[in-house]
Parts: sequence; structure tokens; C-alpha cells
Amino acid sequence: MRKINVAVIGGGPAGLTTAAEIARRGVQVEVFEEHPRIGEPKHCAGLVSIEGFRRLAIQPSREFVQNTISGGVLYSPKGISIEVESFRPRAYVIDRPAFDRYLATKAEKLGVKINFSSRVEALIREEECTSVQTSKERVYADLAVNAGGVAATLTPRIRISSGRDMRLTGVNTEIEGCSVEEDKVEVWFGGDLAPGLFAWVIPLSVDRVRCGLGCNGGNPVEKLEKFILKRFGYRKPLQIWGGTILLGGPVRKTYGEGLILVGDAAGQTKPTTGGGVILGGLCAIEAGRVAVEAVEAGDSSEKFLARYQSAWREKYGGDFSKMIAVRKFANNLTDDQLDQIFRIMKDENMEDELRGVTEEGDMDLQGKVITSVLTNPAFLRILIKVSGQTLYSRLRRILNL
Ligand SMILES: Cc1cc2nc3c(=O)[nH]c(=O)nc-3n(C[C@H](O)[C@H](O)[C@H](O)COP(=O)(O)OP(=O)(O)OC[C@H]3O[C@@H](n4cnc5c(N)ncnc54)[C@H](O)[C@@H]3O)c2cc1C
Repeated sequence: MRKINVAVIGGGPAGLTTAAEIARRGVQVEVFEEHPRIGEPKHCAGLVSIEGFRRLAIQPSREFVQNTISGGVLYSPKGISIEVESFRPRAYVIDRPAFDRYLATKAEKLGVKINFSSRVEALIREEECTSVQTSKERVYADLAVNAGGVAATLTPRIRISSGRDMRLTGVNTEIEGCSVEEDKVEVWFGGDLAPGLFAWVIPLSVDRVRCGLGCNGGNPVEKLEKFILKRFGYRKPLQIWGGTILLGGPVRKTYGEGLILVGDAAGQTKPTTGGGVILGGLCAIEAGRVAVEAVEAGDSSEKFLARYQSAWREKYGGDFSKMIAVRKFANNLTDDQLDQIFRIMKDENMEDELRGVTEEGDMDLQGKVITSVLTNPAFLRILIKVSGQTLYSRLRRILNL
């Protein structure tokens, strides 16, 4: 019988960050990853904030950083564009498989053992420990961390209170030979183009982009092909990859008897965009810290592990709530209303105003920038005009403004 302190299920960013945090504090930890290689198959678009890397103490490296982004252009359903520029670089475009491999190497250097091709088939709580049944062996741990991503089949299914439109399908591809601004992402809205989210164009260089979309209906691949044709006049993309994008916010309970949930498995992604590398990573730091405390206290009971949820909620709960409110508000906007918002902002030269609000805004912890927009008289007027007093008041009530 093999006995370890902490078993982490899943070698994605959340699992590897949790494991590194645990090993850094001198506690024995093993990661169980079902695939033979870290980072594959890929599903992500790879846009992450520079500030997020700083928070996670990740040194950017050419090993995985492909480009740097300073701003973006937003397109309404009718194609009205608004530029959001920043005076400083704001985001990195990363090669996700290479990034995950970097995290794995970092974790291994700290003493984490990674078990490859080890699919965890069951997690069973037995008296004081949690047994992990993989395809190869049974391992006993003081506690387990489920960082298995969106599928999270080993624990009660993710409950997303707001319905199906909060769980979308996302697809990506890369195309070459186009012409784009090297440091600006493009975000395209439209109920036909990408219902429930948006389409993106992320430059890798002046003539190479990664583009994709998230949608809650229709055939995502056909929609992506249509978008590429419209945007680049381009033929069918060669390779398409993707997965499930979560917009519903964290699950109700992220801990249990001998168990912690982190990353996508816990729904810790941004409800506004679906991005989860940074927020999942930040929550993983809390997960790692609490796992170590549990091992040291010899207590991995549900009651003890509840402190993990209190910790991430105290730090990020307010931002999650505001982003969920904005997501619900956005889901209720029609294409016409979106066009109107863009049209008024364009006519009234509000790009500078927008830059003023977003310049200090945080790409990950968006609570502050959401409050700034909703308390800015100019934006407030537009939102009331377009969405109506009732919808707007509801949004402010949810946000406690
Ligand atoms: C199309 C698309 C685009 C995206 N774009 C962005 C973006 O630009 N920026 C951003 O921040 N986020 C983006 N995301 C979200 C981001 O990919 C996720 O939030 C992030 O990968 C979550 O990390 P994780 O470690 O929780 O899960 P994952 O990265 O999914 O890792 C989970 C790991 O667990 C393993 N696993 C699962 N079950 C088991 C098991 N039973 N036993 C053993 N191993 C198991 C899997 O093989 C996988 O390696 C995107 C998502 C999609 C679908």
C-alpha cells in the first residue's frame, strides 16, 4: 500500500500550481495526470494578463510567451469598432502546452512527483484518508485536490445555477498570411456569430493569428469557418482545437471530506470571458496553503477544509460576484442594443473616456473596473438609454451600488 500526503488530480495550471505550492512548503505531493504528456491535448486560446503572471510569480520566458498585447479593438454585431488602447503592455499570448510544461518542470524541481498516463478513476474517503484509484494502482493520501478541469467527473457535477448558456463550447485555430496589428486583440460580438460570448483574434505576429470563438448554440466549427471567411477572406482552417468554456462562476462548495476542488473543476474562471489560467492559479495558491495546513494539523475533515473556500472567497469572491452580474446583464442584451451602445460611444468620442476607466482596470479581478464603469456618469447614461431603467437598476442592485 502506497501512502502519500496530498494527491492532486490533473496536471493543468491549477493542479500544477497547487502541487508546487504544497511542495514549496515541504509537504509530499503527487500529481496524477491521465495523459502521457503535460499540456496536451490543448484547448485554450492562451491570452493571460501580465499582472496575473506577476501575482503568480511567473517569470515570462520565450519558452512559452509568443507575443505581448497592449490593447484591443471591439466590434459590435454591425461592425462598429471601438479601440481600447493602453499606455502599457497588458497581456501575453502564450503557447499553452509549453506554459503547462514550464509549470510542470517548476513543480518537479520543487519535489512534486508527476504520474503520467495515470487516470484517476475513483476517489474514496476511507476513515482518515482519501484513496485514489488510478488505472494502475491505489494510493492513499491525507487528502486529494481535484484539479481535473471542466469534466470533474470524480466529484459531484459542477452546478451552474444560471443554466446552459453559462457552459459554452469554445474553438480555436491559427492562420498565417493575414495582416493584423501585432499588439492588439480583436473581440467580435454578435448573436449569430458567437451567441453567448464573442469571437477573438489574437495576434502572434503581424501576419499570424490565433482566432476562435465561444458559443452556446449552433455548430462552433462552422461558425468559426464563417468568421474566418468574413474577417480574413480565408479558406477553411487546417487545425481546430477547443473545449468547454465556463462562465457561471465558482461552484457552490469547493471542498468536502478529504477533498478540495480548484481551477475549472471549481468553476474558478472569469464569467465575463471564460479565462481561467490566472484566477484558477490564484485560487490554487490558497488550495496549496490550506492543504499543507491540513496535513500539518492531521485534520483533512470537511470542517477544516472549509477555510479554503473562506480564503479564496475573501480575496476574490467580490470580483466573481460582479463578473457574474455583468455576464447575466450581457446575456440579456440584444444585438440591436449592443450596436446602439457602440454607436453612441463612437458618436460621442468616448474612446478616451473608456481608456481612462480601463487603464487602471484589472484584467482578472474585474470588480473595480466594473464599479468604475457603472458609476461613471457617461457610461451610466448610455446603459440606461439602451438597456432601460429596469435592467440597469437590477444590475446595480446585484452589485450593491
Ligand atoms: C476555447 C478555449 C479558450 C480559452 N482561452 C483562454 C484564455 O485565453 N485565457 C485563459 O486564461 N483561459 C482560457 N481558457 C480557459 C482555460 O483553458 C482553463 O480555465 C484552464 O485550462 C483551467 O486550468 P485547470 O488546471 O483547472 O484545468 P485543465 O487545464 O483542463 O487541466 C485539467 C487536467 O486534468 C487532467 N485530468 C482530468 N481528469 C483527470 C482524471 N480523472 N485523472 C487524471 N487526470 C485528469 C486533464 O488531462 C488535464 O490535463 C480557454 C478555454 C477554452 C475551452
